[in-house]
Amino acid sequence: MRRKKAKTSSKKTVAHADAPEDRGEVLDLASAADLLKVSKPTFYRWLAQDKIKGFKAGGQWRFYKRDLEAFLRAEEPSALHIDADALRAAVTKARKSKGLKPIEWPEAETAEESTVIGTVHTLITDAIEARASDIHFDNNVDEMLVRYRIDGVLNEVMSLPRDVALPLVSRLKLMGDMDIAERRLPQNGRIIVEHQGREYDIRVTTVPAVYGESAISRILDQSSILIGLDKLGMSESTRKRFESVLHDPNGLVIVTGPAGSGRTTTLYSSLNLLNSPKLKIVTVEDPVEYRLRNVMQVHVNRKAGLRAAAAMRTFMRADPDIVMVGDLRDLETAEGCISAAMTGHRVLTAMLPLDAPSVVTRLIDMGLEPFLVSASLNAVLAQRLMRRVCPKCRERYDPSPDGLRRLQAETDLDITQAEFQRGKGCRECRHTGYRGRTSVFELLEVDDSIRELIARPASTAEIQAAAIEAGMTTLLKDGVEKAMQGITTIEEVMRVLSYHPKEDADDQK
Ligand SMILES: [Zn+2]
Repeated sequence: MRRKKAKTSSKKTVAHADAPEDRGEVLDLASAADLLKVSKPTFYRWLAQDKIKGFKAGGQWRFYKRDLEAFLRAEEPSALHIDADALRAAVTKARKSKGLKPIEWPEAETAEESTVIGTVHTLITDAIEARASDIHFDNNVDEMLVRYRIDGVLNEVMSLPRDVALPLVSRLKLMGDMDIAERRLPQNGRIIVEHQGREYDIRVTTVPAVYGESAISRILDQSSILIGLDKLGMSESTRKRFESVLHDPNGLVIVTGPAGSGRTTTLYSSLNLLNSPKLKIVTVEDPVEYRLRNVMQVHVNRKAGLRAAAAMRTFMRADPDIVMVGDLRDLETAEGCISAAMTGHRVLTAMLPLDAPSVVTRLIDMGLEPFLVSASLNAVLAQRLMRRVCPKCRERYDPSPDGLRRLQAETDLDITQAEFQRGKGCRECRHTGYRGRTSVFELLEVDDSIRELIARPASTAEIQAAAIEAGMTTLLKDGVEKAMQGITTIEEVMRVLSYHPKEDADDQK
């Protein structure tokens, strides 16, 4: 509403602006379609669907400019041209099929408003209860598809009538304090939701796509991030060694893995372990995902020109003991991390390579001097998230012997005696056989012999061989061990690590 006053000043034909009949500038159909940035067929369709109000003058369509602007802003409840009954029916049916209780629709001025508010609220709380990490709202030609990402995999939740897309996304934008009128640029917003006594931080991103705006909502559970290193699924020996590396007063520790591999949780859990009023901790993040007590957190905004490297230079003057850089992706940031690590600071950061030894090679490929990497790097922890076998429907099974033989050779584990488990599929796990996730880890500790190899610089394979010799458990071995304990399945280990034992087994013959 706030911008309405300014817009109505665009009257040119009427001399007396306060004339009661004055509704402002009138446009013909071509200019109206132009203003809304849509093709004429789309415009006619909206007109036929009564989304746009116009009037006929001399057999020609005419439109008040301010009506069209209000439509663009979608600010009036009357602009919610949706079939509330159809939307309620779609939501109710989809939830009923999953055995969920009926919704109590909230009170609002109109049935349309109540339906939109109730639908968005329900989709968010259902997602939280389903332990979803993200909600995706995507437009297709004839529907708006809602999906939840649960345990790393997308699940279709419901298909809604296409005409609700605009009001639903607008509602998310309103809750996220975003600009409702802006539909041609991506936007980011934040919604805090309280559900059953817990606070959830929801990051909303809207993206303009061909069939209209899509929205993705990431659900961050503030209480799940600081779960502690002991609850991440690290083996006892890896955790002890990792904690001792974290307590080293200077040097660089890197957590690595592709996006969505749980690196952020590990970094935060590490900081939480070290967090004490006796230490000054600063973080440089893009964006700041979770708030930590006693920690100076800085949000790096690439668009605003505050880059990680520049931010780091500033913070080193704040005399930190521990620096956490959310993401190491360029040479400048890497140099900043190394120089901080070499001047008596503990530096934690995350990278993208798939395994620990590859991080060393990647740093050198970025342009860092091998002797600097060798002198500053203390450890690299590679990780992946894997789905856990559902506790409600687990059963013994025998994986294919071909795959096992190869895995046995590769991991040096006595696989033949293990009792493998899998989920049959039940309601608890939505018939996937999996519920919840755990992590697998590979910790490369940089000892004197590895330092020598890095300085040379040796190849990734040589570093890996030396590390395994010194006792490093690879991601594969850690995964297979977890499968042998019945925590996950061999198939899940191979899926997550993109491991194809059959082809390899043929090579061996
Ligand atoms: Zn189950």
